[in-house]
Parts: sequence; C-alpha cells; structure tokens
Amino acid sequence: PPTIGVLALQGDVREHVRALESVGARALAVRRPDELDTVDGLVIPGGESTTMWRLAVAFDILEPLRKHIAAGMPAYGTCAGMIMLADRIEDGAPGQQTIGGIDMTVRRNAFGRQVDSFEAPVEVTGVDGGPVEAVFIRAPWVESVGAAARALGHVSRGERAGRIVAVRQGGLLATSFHPELTGDARIHRLFVDMVKGQA
Ligand code: GLN
Repeated sequence: PPTIGVLALQGDVREHVRALESVGARALAVRRPDELDTVDGLVIPGGESTTMWRLAVAFDILEPLRKHIAAGMPAYGTCAGMIMLADRIEDGAPGQQTIGGIDMTVRRNAFGRQVDSFEAPVEVTGVDGGPVEAVFIRAPWVESVGAAARALGHVSRGERAGRIVAVRQGGLLATSFHPELTGDARIHRLFVDMVKGQA
C-alpha cells in the first residue's frame, strides 16, 4: 500500500490518518522536511491556513513542500489545506503565503460568518455512488480555476449553488469541505487511487 503523510503542523490530522487507513493506505503524521522524502503522497488537513502558513515558515518546511509539489508529489488539501494548495488567494491575512500548485483562486472564509458551518450534497466527478454529504466549516470557495485545473464539484442547491468546492490538477486534489469528518472515505479512496496512478 502507498504511504501517505498528513501534514501535522496544525489541524485535524488524526481524522485524516483514520480515513486513509480505512481505505488501505499507510498513514503517518509529517512535520519535518526530511519526512517528505518517505511518503508517496501528502494530505494537508483542515484547520487555519494562516496558522499553518506561519508554522510552515517557522519549521522551515514551506520551501520543501513547494519543491516536492513542483516535483510531482501528489497532495490532497481539505479546507485550510485547499487554501494552502491554491496558487492565488483572496481575503488572506496580510502577507499570507501558500504552498501553491493548483492554478486556482480561492476565497478564504467565503461562505460567510453567519453560516460558519453547514452541510450540502456535492456530486464529485470521479466519485461513484451518489453525492458526497459535504461538511463546510468556515470554508473557502474557489473563485476561479485556471486552464491547468479542473472543477470536480459544485454546491448543488441553495444560495451558494454553483460555487466550485472541489478541484483537481494532475496529482493535486482540493476540497472546500471535510470528508475526513463524515465517515465517507470515497474522496480519500480517490486520492489514494491517484497516488497509485489508478485515477
Ligand atoms: N477558515 C479557515 C482558514 O482560513 C479554514 C477552515 C477549515 O479548515 N475548516 O484556513
């Protein structure tokens, strides 16, 4: 089975470890740059992207992350992790940097403060068996995807219908929502298949 790291600077690391193990991957928390050499892919969890960015700088892992991603390491980011994988962000903190890799513009905290948290079904391209029940927690949305990236899912109904919330570019995957919190591991399975070169 592939070994998948979960970036463990901050955020919901354990939930991702569990979800990855439930689909047969080996999962381990990653904090140091040299640990990136030992994994076949990386999950960047939900949490708070400004904190994650500051800790990545403090732990000297921001540049190594950029290098590994530029060299083709597959990665999957949820929520704050999606922000970290975006080439461009709106409403970031002053000076906020990302790892980048996906040709998209992501708006931080886009779903608004009154609606900090909600659930909605999302049909995700490449995921069979019906829509994923997506959990959004102070979630970003994708303002726009560039030519290199592809939208895989949108909010299906309500006031936010049509907003892009899942994106893929080659070996990089990002969702605004948190499948690690729902017990539905289909998106983790998709990512593990991507790491294996089977999706
Ligand atoms: N609002 C958070 C951020 O800017 C993301 C929230 C989350 O990951 N659930 O990073």
